[in-house]
Amino acid sequence: PMKRNILLNPGPATTTDSVKQALMVPDICPREQEFGDLTQAVLNKVVQVVNGESTHTAVIFTGSGTAGVEAALSSVVPPEGKILILDNGAYGKRAETIIQAYGIPYRTHRLVWGDYPDVDAVEAIFKEDSELTHFVFVHHETTTGMLNPLPELLELCQKYEIDSIVDAMSSYAGLPIDMRELPIDYLISSSNKCIQGMAGTSFVIANKEKLAKTAEIPPRNLYLNLWGNHSYIEKTGQFQFTPPVQIVYALNQALDEFFVETQAGRTARYVKSYETLLDGLETAGLELLLPKSQHSKLLTAIVEPNSPGYDFMEMHDYFYQNDITIYPGKGAKQDTFRIANIGEIDYRDMLVFNKLLLQYFEEKKIS
Ligand SMILES: *Cc1c(COP(=O)(O)O)cnc(C)c1O
Repeated sequence: PMKRNILLNPGPATTTDSVKQALMVPDICPREQEFGDLTQAVLNKVVQVVNGESTHTAVIFTGSGTAGVEAALSSVVPPEGKILILDNGAYGKRAETIIQAYGIPYRTHRLVWGDYPDVDAVEAIFKEDSELTHFVFVHHETTTGMLNPLPELLELCQKYEIDSIVDAMSSYAGLPIDMRELPIDYLISSSNKCIQGMAGTSFVIANKEKLAKTAEIPPRNLYLNLWGNHSYIEKTGQFQFTPPVQIVYALNQALDEFFVETQAGRTARYVKSYETLLDGLETAGLELLLPKSQHSKLLTAIVEPNSPGYDFMEMHDYFYQNDITIYPGKGAKQDTFRIANIGEIDYRDMLVFNKLLLQYFEEKKIS
């Protein structure tokens, strides 16, 4: 077996040995039928994770998660449309940066990073601004570990006939999302977070009817055009551009392992790790950025101790020497560091983390 590192950064996450081994395949030209069949199977499974088989289809892109977000945002808003962006973290802000780069009409509902969205405030914007046609928000805002109110925001979208674009990068396959109950128009995720595959692909799970309507929108790009990629793959059964062949094999393996574990099993494993982590943080006397009711239970933002012995990079190196990777904060309203509990790890790894944390705090006299 390969050396096992415990990644507590929010993706790329720790993978199984069998997913790593799936990268090792005989060389194959991705224009072969065999690879086309694999691609189709992967796309079907990607949709199945969120029970979208009857309503949705997946479009896959080579690139990290942001490629999928950029593909959706650049491709689905018609020239006469306007999009509302919820910015309560770095990924909401990134959506705005993309929209600005494409010159798409928009409006931003901006909150301090770590503040919880007020659904009534969003509704007031929908009511007041009749030009709005689309709404993009993040499901799990990885900046803070906040789970934004997905069902409530979707309900508003339905009420005001606004198309929803949900960045579910770090929640997809980690938390249950059932498209039969939560009719998201465009959901975006990637291969390397809670689905536990390798980094290198991103996908947009699109409502078939909504996607078909985007065929009329003059393309703003080529490589990341949603309709362009979708129609090519429909016609030919192949990726439009050279795919990351081995990453797709690994994703297929990761998807199979997801269905063996089941969504309920994976969520339960992650939640147990989260609860174990919280015990350790409490013992260490650490304060959390968010109230527990807002936690994703996938990533926790921890307020940095105000103690002269504390230095994040030093602490990072201490953990890294012990094969554990921890993660810094990213612009939240208080200075934090972050611990994710996604990937092929479980509560026993969190017990190791907790023990090392206490040891380190004692050594450095951090309290
Ligand atoms: C990881 C992540 C992304 C994508 O980031 P990449 O660096 O492109 O992989 C986008 N949105 C959210 C919420 C994320 O957690």
